[in-house]
Amino acid sequence: MKFNTKTIHGGQQDIDPAYGSVMPPIYQTTTYSQSTPGSHKGFEYSRSGNPTRAALERSVASIENGKFGLAFGSGLAAIDAVMKLLKPGDEVISTNDLYGGSFRLFTKVFENFGIIFHFIGMENASNIENFVCDNTKLIWIETPTNPMMNIIDIKACSAIAKKHGVLLAVDNTFATPYLQQPLDLGADIVMHSATKYLGGHSDVVLGAIAVKDKELADKLYFIQNASGAISGPQDSFLVLRGIKTLHLRVQRHCENGKAIAHYLKNHPKIEKVYWPGFEDHPNHEIAKSQMSDFGGMISFVTRGNDYNEAIKIIENLKVFTLAESLGGVESLAGHPASMTHASIPKEEREKTGVVDSLIRLSVGVEDVADLILDLEQAIQQC
Ligand SMILES: *Cc1c(COP(=O)(O)O)cnc(C)c1O
Repeated sequence: MKFNTKTIHGGQQDIDPAYGSVMPPIYQTTTYSQSTPGSHKGFEYSRSGNPTRAALERSVASIENGKFGLAFGSGLAAIDAVMKLLKPGDEVISTNDLYGGSFRLFTKVFENFGIIFHFIGMENASNIENFVCDNTKLIWIETPTNPMMNIIDIKACSAIAKKHGVLLAVDNTFATPYLQQPLDLGADIVMHSATKYLGGHSDVVLGAIAVKDKELADKLYFIQNASGAISGPQDSFLVLRGIKTLHLRVQRHCENGKAIAHYLKNHPKIEKVYWPGFEDHPNHEIAKSQMSDFGGMISFVTRGNDYNEAIKIIENLKVFTLAESLGGVESLAGHPASMTHASIPKEEREKTGVVDSLIRLSVGVEDVADLILDLEQAIQQC
């Protein structure tokens, strides 16, 4: 199957045996009757497995070209499960431009359990080699990154991981498998905050993992069942429904994103636009080779880099909503310096480019003319 068919049918061949319903029912049940102890129809207890969740897990495996999928209560619960593959003394190499929640989980939770983290620049993947030692067990990357839209070379990371016998995990939340398929580029684990593009409608928090290797899948399944951070049947259903239109939505996110990136780049009041589709983006060539298009996430900085002016622009927006999160059908705008990155000292965040006037857009699938008009009126008022 091609990708645009997989989003709808991937892993969904077993039509509901009861009534042939085209969508899997929401099996809102904790347990399953047994005819004699141990004799059941494949499900015993809904932490260990639930048919609605299983349908989503097969779908995620399918669209990521994996063999096994796992669904969790949130993106962070999925990351938490991956980290529990490790033991005290193990080392992890990760990017210094990581999703804030992942950084918090690593440094405030797993460092307490004796896991050692190195957060490094990965614009040039060969830098990873400088930090590999005998205890290195995992390379954890994200590309494009948030909010600076840096691009990391997945193939190059995979070559280093394989050379040293280390696992490579890719947080594919921003790109989605429509644009980028990390398992095909050599990653061992691909992870999603399905809260974002996979769900796509800003109505569910959920996380997912896909892998190819059976042994790794078994270990992760054991952790999922033992720790218990599963996704519920209703939420699994919503993400499964979201995935069915993933290709349509992301295609439009990309078209709208491209138009807005160029509009902002040509705007006299805008200093800089971060979007991997520009030829002068530092890793544009890598983006071009590992992504099929450049997505709808854009960050930009106004001329003069004035904190209050950036806040005013965001307040003036009418079609874009000022809110955390991303990846839904509606356009959102955020101010990283006062929102997602507020806990990082100004000096620290400015080193990575998160300056006072940086604005991040999650470009939705509305009519792009309305979106551009909205940005124009908001910027002109300043
Ligand atoms: C939102 C997000 C997460 C965390 O996912 P939740 O579903 O909010 O727990 C992880 N990584 C990235 C890149 C994200 O954007």
